[in-house]
Amino acid sequence: MSRQGINLGYYKGIRIGLDYSWFIIFILVVFMLATYYFPENYENITTVSAWLLSIFAALLFFLSILLHEFAHAVTAQKREVEITEIVLFIFGGLARMKREPDRARDEFFIAGAGPMCSILIGILFLGLAYVAEPAITEGLYGVFWYIGYINIVLAAFNLLPGFPLDGGRMMRAAIWHYSGNLRKSTKIVSNMGQFFAFFLIFVGAVVIFGGAIIAGIFWIFIGMFLLQSAKSGYYMVAMREGLSGIPVRNVMTVDPATVHPDVSLRNLVDEYFFKNRFSCFPVVKRDEVLGLIEINQVKSVDRANWESTKVSDIMTPVEKTGTVSPETDAYDVLMHLIDSANGRMIVLEDGKLVGVVSRKDIMKFVELQETLRS
Ligand SMILES: [Zn+2]
Repeated sequence: MSRQGINLGYYKGIRIGLDYSWFIIFILVVFMLATYYFPENYENITTVSAWLLSIFAALLFFLSILLHEFAHAVTAQKREVEITEIVLFIFGGLARMKREPDRARDEFFIAGAGPMCSILIGILFLGLAYVAEPAITEGLYGVFWYIGYINIVLAAFNLLPGFPLDGGRMMRAAIWHYSGNLRKSTKIVSNMGQFFAFFLIFVGAVVIFGGAIIAGIFWIFIGMFLLQSAKSGYYMVAMREGLSGIPVRNVMTVDPATVHPDVSLRNLVDEYFFKNRFSCFPVVKRDEVLGLIEINQVKSVDRANWESTKVSDIMTPVEKTGTVSPETDAYDVLMHLIDSANGRMIVLEDGKLVGVVSRKDIMKFVELQETLRS
């Protein structure tokens, strides 16, 4: 779900990635600067230097966003909240946490560090432009001024009090700190996030009717992304709360039908998948669990070879799917499953198969709870 884009490198175990959508914003920024910002404000600059300065400014903008995300990541690490990766994408970056912070105080400072960093960069560059103005070329002045300005705008946008923006996270942390209710505080800022998202989509539509189609589409994109994140942010919290204290035993599929490793795929499809209507079977030989076989894996084998291919040839071995005890916390298992390529784990008790647990099982459980609550 998250391994897309280009790998820029690693820093202290944090992956730094560049989403392909970033190239769109990069080109837009360069284009906007070279055709509008420099010609409008600095008449003496030639077209060629305007383009070169624009590329330079866009690179500095890129670095600013990277620093903003690093500020989040470093603060998180100081507070022992694990960050897995930083991804730069269409309208900025995202420091992805392995799991959400457990304490309001941590969340407040981690979220606040980013905008704080942007404000500092903004002040630094505006100050630089002001102090160095007599000594530097008009073009360089323009670059400094733009970077200062864009960082202040970035900070202001991120400080809007709607989830998942930094300001929304800070606000959630504050409400959470005083009310002690994470779910309620997330609901409030998630609603505000959705309100901002709709507002951006509306602005985008107005801008499009005004004739600026690309800018309008850009705002609508950001709005839709925000809308999606605001909704899923609440869902994640509902999930965490709904699952707290719930062991895997309560959410797993109990005593699943099993299949022998020597069964052919043809047999597996006819006698197992169609008869039982499960999409996955544990592979078991004399009470020993060897792995899992899923319907998708069968699909990848040519139909002509179904007779000659055995389940053991294509199953996912148990070392890869991993096993859990029925007493493990369901939320921890879900977090693990979200990160891993396999959506299922085998549940063993005293070395014996007692069930299978999947991402879907756990989410369904939460959905049911959510339905009964409202
Ligand atoms: Zn941020």
